[in-house]
Amino acid sequence: MTLPRGFKAAAERRAVELRRAMGLRSAEALNITDLALYMGVKVVSADRLIPHERLEELERLQAFSFSAATFDVRGRSYVVTNPLRSAGRLASDVAHELSHLDLGHDLSEVREVDGVPFRTCRPDEEEQATSLGGTLLLPRPLLMQAALAGMSPEEIAKQYVVTVEMARFRYNSTGVTKQVARRSG
Ligand SMILES: [Zn+2]
Repeated sequence: MTLPRGFKAAAERRAVELRRAMGLRSAEALNITDLALYMGVKVVSADRLIPHERLEELERLQAFSFSAATFDVRGRSYVVTNPLRSAGRLASDVAHELSHLDLGHDLSEVREVDGVPFRTCRPDEEEQATSLGGTLLLPRPLLMQAALAGMSPEEIAKQYVVTVEMARFRYNSTGVTKQVARRSG
C-alpha cells in the first residue's frame, strides 16, 4: 500500500496550516486535544461509556484491538479513546482519528469485537490517517528545530508526548538529520 502522489507534502502543508489557524508557529508543539476542540470534535475516554474492567477484558481478548474510534452522534463527532494506552500512544490515536475526519473519510464501516462496535477503514485510508496524524504531531519544521537542537528521537518523543516509534519514524523519514548535517557541514 502506498500513499497517493503528493500526499506527504500536502500533509506537511496541512500541519502548518492548522497550526497557523490555531495561532501556533509551524515548529510549535500541537496539543491534540486543542486540535480536537478546534475541529469541534469531542474526545471521550472509553471508561466513561463502558466499565474499565470491560476494557481490560477486551485488551486480554485481543491486545491493541481498540485504540480509538470515531462516532458520529447527531451530527457531532466523538473520538473515543482507550484509557489503557500511554499518553504518547493516546495522542497518536487521537491524531489518527482526527486525520480521518480532516481527510473526509467515510465513517460507515463498523466491525464488532466481542460485541463492541469499532469502525474499520479501508487500508489505504488507514495509511493516510496514520501518515497525516504523525505529520500533525511532528511536522517537518518542528523536527528540523529539534534536530538542530541536537535532540534524539527518544528526546523528541518525551518532549512532544508521542511514541518513540512515531518520533523515530518521522525523524528518519523526513530526512531532517541529513539536512542539519548539510547545514553545519
Ligand atoms: Zn483508522
